[in-house]
Amino acid sequence: MVTKITVVAPSSTANLGPGFDVFGLAVDAFYDEVTLTKKKTKKVSIVTEDDIPKNPEKNTAGLVVKNMIKKFKTKDGIEIKIKKNVPAGYGMGSSAASAAAAAVAFDKLYKLRLDGNSLVRFAGIGEKASAGTIHYDNVAASVLGGFVIVRTNPLDIIKIDPPTHLRMCIAVPKLIVPKKKTKVSRGVIPKKISFADSITNLSNATAIVAGFLNKDPELIGKSIKDVIVEPARKHMIPGFSKVKENALKAGAFGVTISGAGPSVIAFSKSSENNKKIGLAMTKGFDSAKIECHTIICKPSIGASIKK
Ligand code: ADP
Repeated sequence: MVTKITVVAPSSTANLGPGFDVFGLAVDAFYDEVTLTKKKTKKVSIVTEDDIPKNPEKNTAGLVVKNMIKKFKTKDGIEIKIKKNVPAGYGMGSSAASAAAAAVAFDKLYKLRLDGNSLVRFAGIGEKASAGTIHYDNVAASVLGGFVIVRTNPLDIIKIDPPTHLRMCIAVPKLIVPKKKTKVSRGVIPKKISFADSITNLSNATAIVAGFLNKDPELIGKSIKDVIVEPARKHMIPGFSKVKENALKAGAFGVTISGAGPSVIAFSKSSENNKKIGLAMTKGFDSAKIECHTIICKPSIGASIKK
């Protein structure tokens, strides 16, 4: 009988510009590690050395496990050990990586053999603990890997394998991020948008999908243009306009905010000079006197048992 399992789940970037709450991409920059151990006591407990909530109701992995215990009427208590590697609050899908790893680990621990949509549904519940609302873009990418399109009512995730030569350069600024940052940055999004803007974003979003289907990093990157959410949020990231301008000048195909920020993500391909793009982004943040850490990464596979 299996009593313990460890699953790793990747970081992810949500939105990709015009695909707000719809697009997600798993990125091989960081991986959270979640170990579930069955316990004789009825309790759900969190063990972690990282700066995240230890109350299971307030932790994304804890909320997922509590919901799955309730749904599947399992009798054991569960200890959830979390090793964070995805930095929390930087728009890299940190809360989602823990939630995704927890849902996949629970599925394996109890041999439930849930399908992708069900795993994503459970993982999505976890986001309530961080963002205040359920949203599936990051968890879908982290559970399934690759590029995902989220449709809701009913939840239906479409996964597309990204081009293997797609590269992302992510600049993570050293900014102090507020707790519940996603909730805060959702608050600045316009309640009403113009018909013309919705058409612009729709045309770019559909071109991104075509880029993934055609395995064309240039089409993906050049379509990462968002006239609705990025303009409303960019003031929250000091130096954003310069970071974007510099990365585009250095050869990036497209640049936008990663998820709810403050990380900025540039899209390119393996044959581009990605180090130059990273350096250009660093200089952009320098102009606002902000240090940043840049990572050049590829798309990732989804959550899996740790080997
Ligand atoms: P991110 O893009 O990194 O997911 P969010 O702001 O949405 O950023 O989530 C980070 C918030 O979620 C932090 O306030 C953090 O304390 C909370 N949180 C709850 N559980 C976790 C977890 N297991 N991992 C990371 N953050 C968590």
